[in-house]
Amino acid sequence: MSDTPPAIEIRDVVKRYAGSKGAEPKLALKGLSLDIPQGGVFGLLGPNGAGKSTLINIMAGTVNKTGGTIRIWGHDIDEDSRNAKLSIGIVPQEIIFDPFFTPFEVLENQGGMYGIAKALRRSDELLRAVRLEDKRNAYARTLSGGMKRRLLIAKAMVHSPPILVLDEPTAGVDVELRKQLWELVGELNAEGVTVVLTTHYLEEAEQLCDRIAIINHGELITNKPTRELVGMMGEKIVAVTVDKDIAEMPSDPRFRKCEAVGERVIEVTYDKAEMTAGQVLARLQEQGFTIEDVSTREADLEDVFVQLTSAVEAA
Ligand code: ADP
Ligand code: MG
Repeated sequence: MSDTPPAIEIRDVVKRYAGSKGAEPKLALKGLSLDIPQGGVFGLLGPNGAGKSTLINIMAGTVNKTGGTIRIWGHDIDEDSRNAKLSIGIVPQEIIFDPFFTPFEVLENQGGMYGIAKALRRSDELLRAVRLEDKRNAYARTLSGGMKRRLLIAKAMVHSPPILVLDEPTAGVDVELRKQLWELVGELNAEGVTVVLTTHYLEEAEQLCDRIAIINHGELITNKPTRELVGMMGEKIVAVTVDKDIAEMPSDPRFRKCEAVGERVIEVTYDKAEMTAGQVLARLQEQGFTIEDVSTREADLEDVFVQLTSAVEAA
């Protein structure tokens, strides 16, 4: 790695939500530390309730942290909130718009909020970038869900921040729109914008992000280049279809996991470094299984995630 400072530096961040109506207070972030490098597409992953939105809303200044520090593009969000805010554009998880403004007006108002002179505003350019130029003068309430998302991205980019953060941009979004959103994210990143996105879709993160951090229960579980994370386990999975219903599962001390995924299908997870698919099949045959069909796959992020989060829970 180079000496380039991180785009975002998160140090020991704690968030405790006060419990409402006699409910227990909730420790949503338990001293989280994380550097997000400049220039990439960074994925913040975790199941629902992990603390992703809490972290992003703290960066956005809409939630107050209980402890720790965050620097955005070198600016401390408490000591230099003005420059910190100028350095980041955030698309929140919830879509909220005043339905009576047009997309053009939404962007102009946002430009005004940042004190950008009328002549320097980029509203039309941004509408083109998110392919909403033909909706320039329509009421926001008449836009489809996907168009609203794109308008929110344009709105987050009004002040040309070097960092764009998207909180669950594709939750509840159809395949076509998802593709469009990723193209847009790719274009912005190619222009030099550091992108941070949260998702609980592992496959999406695997495809889009060059680096992934996984959080669960407000704690960092891992933070690695995507390729390393996927390759980390070195695990392979072989799915075997056998000729009759499974009465007893096969076993071998080298099997990492062995489960029935159908009446006649067994999935065996093993480590490439310890054994080969051929040895797995040989063990099954020794134990009386007649094999009708076989397929293998590498462990994907889903498997890595399940393994990592269950390891933490067991600890
Ligand atoms: P994620 O975005 O990863 O799904 P959140 O940051 O929304 O997770 O939530 C983290 C935890 O904090 C959850 O247990 C959630 O119920 C709790 N939480 C979030 N917002 C509040 C709030 N305003 N008051 C109390 N608890 C909250
Ligand atoms: Mg969330």
